[in-house]
Amino acid sequence: MTEQLPSTTPDVPDTAFAEDEAVRLTSELIRIDTTNTGDPATVVGERAAAEFVASQLAEVGYETTYVESGAPGRGNVIARLSGSDPSRGALLVHGHLDVVPADASEWSVHPFSGAVQDGYVWGRGAVDMKDMVAMSLALARRLKRDGIAPKRDIIFAFLADEEAGGHFGAQWLVENRPELFEGATEAISEVGGFSITVKDGVRAYLIETAEKGIAWMTLRARGRAGHGSMIHDDNAVTKLTQAVSRLGTHQFPLVLTDSVREFLQGISEITGFPFNEDDLDGSVAKLGNIARMIGATLRDTANPTMLTAGYKANVIPSVAEATVDCRILPGRQAAFERELDEILGPDIEREWTGLPPLETTFDGALVDHMTASILAEDPEAKALPYMLSGGTDAKSFAQLGIRCFGYAPLRLPADLDFSALFHGVDERVPVDALKFGTRVLDRFLRNC
Ligand SMILES: [Zn+2]
Repeated sequence: MTEQLPSTTPDVPDTAFAEDEAVRLTSELIRIDTTNTGDPATVVGERAAAEFVASQLAEVGYETTYVESGAPGRGNVIARLSGSDPSRGALLVHGHLDVVPADASEWSVHPFSGAVQDGYVWGRGAVDMKDMVAMSLALARRLKRDGIAPKRDIIFAFLADEEAGGHFGAQWLVENRPELFEGATEAISEVGGFSITVKDGVRAYLIETAEKGIAWMTLRARGRAGHGSMIHDDNAVTKLTQAVSRLGTHQFPLVLTDSVREFLQGISEITGFPFNEDDLDGSVAKLGNIARMIGATLRDTANPTMLTAGYKANVIPSVAEATVDCRILPGRQAAFERELDEILGPDIEREWTGLPPLETTFDGALVDHMTASILAEDPEAKALPYMLSGGTDAKSFAQLGIRCFGYAPLRLPADLDFSALFHGVDERVPVDALKFGTRVLDRFLRNC
């Protein structure tokens, strides 16, 4: 009988196969056009993508649940992998299969080619978010194939309709099929875990701990209909446009939330530049490309995006409407609405749709695992929390009491303008970054 010393290296096969699969799957998923225009009648490809994912899971032995959420073709796939420690809550790993439209005439490569060239996988969805879907899928396959039981149950969810609010995806499932997510206490998904190069090659990985709320507001002014040739002092179009113009040029006050403070303090520790609370705009401006995104988390915003009124040149309409895309910081809803009262005045009607903000703390065992998994692959780096100015399916899953993070790890070249690739032309993801992310997520999913 021989006695063995405990091994310090994990006794599992390496991730080389899964890394290659993540690249292959990113490309294959991009080739399935899942454009979501927001008009359900025009949505194509979600079912094909969901069936592709389900077949990849079934091939290695998963039982999958395929759900069409409220409308034909809006496919979602959910699969569970059992963990070794049933006392732990399950981890939800979710990703959306749909993408925003792309105009091929503007691109260097066809947006649905999934071309792998010049060290990148190219195409619509490469960073939003078929990259993370592919990494998750490759690792779901790897864990099953290699017979690795993670510590906790992992629920993999591949979803429709994120780009139009999740009404046929995450939000529908949360409202109609919550049992599919039973036992989930925490979740990871998109728009976090990517690196920015802060100084002399030192990278910070931004883990999303907060999201601004989405509030899509319809403004309506009413007036008296009449002939366009006459004196008229009650014109709905005039009233509405004055209000929209006041709102569109209004600057909401600076508010420093915990996530943004912790992020700016972390950046200041790396750079050595003092973090000046009295000059937040100045501190953020120094961040380079990422300033666009971080700057939008310092205050509420209200951007007018659509106007509708009238039907003939010489008819003054009785109603005029505008749509305003409002993004509201955690804890600011009531104050935001009081400000709207003053800016818009009493004559403008308001209607809302949207989802509330999120904010969780950057601490606890899961955060420790996220950080450690990144540092194992990039030891000089630092992990920091940040707030996303946009919204994701996390808003829906938070309604089930799940603590949600953005953690789709990518180690990116210093000169890549990553935030511009989201919904942008020539969206692409570095092959190296996908392999890096697969290694990070593998360690994280096995141990968290
Ligand atoms: Zn996305």
